[in-house]
Amino acid sequence: MNLPKTGFPMRAGLSKSEPKRLKDWQDNKVYEQVLKKNKGHKKFVLHDGPPYANGPIHIGHAMNKISKDMINRYWMMQGYEVPYVPGWDCHGQPIEHKVEEKLGTEKFNQTSTAKIRELCNKFAVENIELQKAGFRRLGVLGDWDNPYLTLYHQHDAADIEVFKAMFDKGMIYRGHKPVHWCKHCHTALAEAEIEYSDETSPSIFVRFEMTTKPAGLENFDGPVDFIIWTTTPWTIPSDQAVSLKPGAAYVAVEHDGRAEVMLEDLAPKCCEEFGWEYTPVMVDGKPYVVPAETFHHIHYKQPIFDGVEGVALLADYVGVDDGTGIVHNSPGHGVDDYFACLKEGITDICMPVDDDGKFYTGEEFGTGGPFSGMDTDEANPHIIEFLRERGTLVLEKKITHSYPHCWRCKHPVL
Ligand SMILES: [Zn+2]
Repeated sequence: MNLPKTGFPMRAGLSKSEPKRLKDWQDNKVYEQVLKKNKGHKKFVLHDGPPYANGPIHIGHAMNKISKDMINRYWMMQGYEVPYVPGWDCHGQPIEHKVEEKLGTEKFNQTSTAKIRELCNKFAVENIELQKAGFRRLGVLGDWDNPYLTLYHQHDAADIEVFKAMFDKGMIYRGHKPVHWCKHCHTALAEAEIEYSDETSPSIFVRFEMTTKPAGLENFDGPVDFIIWTTTPWTIPSDQAVSLKPGAAYVAVEHDGRAEVMLEDLAPKCCEEFGWEYTPVMVDGKPYVVPAETFHHIHYKQPIFDGVEGVALLADYVGVDDGTGIVHNSPGHGVDDYFACLKEGITDICMPVDDDGKFYTGEEFGTGGPFSGMDTDEANPHIIEFLRERGTLVLEKKITHSYPHCWRCKHPVL
């Protein structure tokens, strides 16, 4: 055998040689040397999107930091000046959540905000050191002794300065918007923090009696109703409007002396489910079938609160495959509902549920009314019973559907 001669050892022995190589880089200040060598050259600056300081590093961190390190080294070797300042996000729910896990929810809720902040700060600082050691072990070059931490007050000050500049330019306004809310974690959730999984919910069909009759049914003897469909009965106390699909055809079906309005395409299937005969109301010898626009701005009785009225709107998001083609709107609970109402000038938004997911106590619209103090889940069967007693419940069944859940505690969100 005539093998080439080499100074490399026979065995790689990475577990020993790697830490030694990293130590050499550190002792010889390789990062500082490269920075000095390329000083004054064109700059390449990678702005590090910081990780949360909430635990030891995992494979995702490794992927992220090693990729960034490769990019930085490439530009260093091209002769660029490449300062790399790593950072940590020390604020927000991921850290609060860890502290809550440590204390237990009950104790966490009893602890003062100031104390929680102190514990979060301590937790973040500990984990920064833990993660920093992990990143250095991965061989990432950077200014590890001078990282940027969001808990430094100079960053808070910079935030306020930028906010003030935006405010001075008139770019800041105050408004409302429904957000996903976890009543368990007591926090709003971003779309990215939502996990969808199957949930069994009540599915109910309810009569909303119109207070004025739509064009063509002026001479109909009995009451005229919208038949709405919802899977969240707890949103009915805050109902402010119903939405119909623009341009779609709606039919009135006669049942028990009432005219029941539904999407024409879905009405036969609905009637079958309700156990009703499919008998359209006849006007001038023809079935009463009209476009959604006929009902625009027709008012109806709020199903829970006497003396309160809702209004019929047109909205593109209304589904024509399920239910009755008429959905009830709670602009305080749903983004689609909110914007549909806003478009129609409904800005006095009703939101009767507190941070714990319980209805406000009171008798007026805007509170829980008969369901005051109840949790939304607890209220569902009571609301269904209330509607049944009033004779407005057409059908109740259960459906399994995809429902948003909190990524942290896995509870369904509001
Ligand atoms: Zn949660």
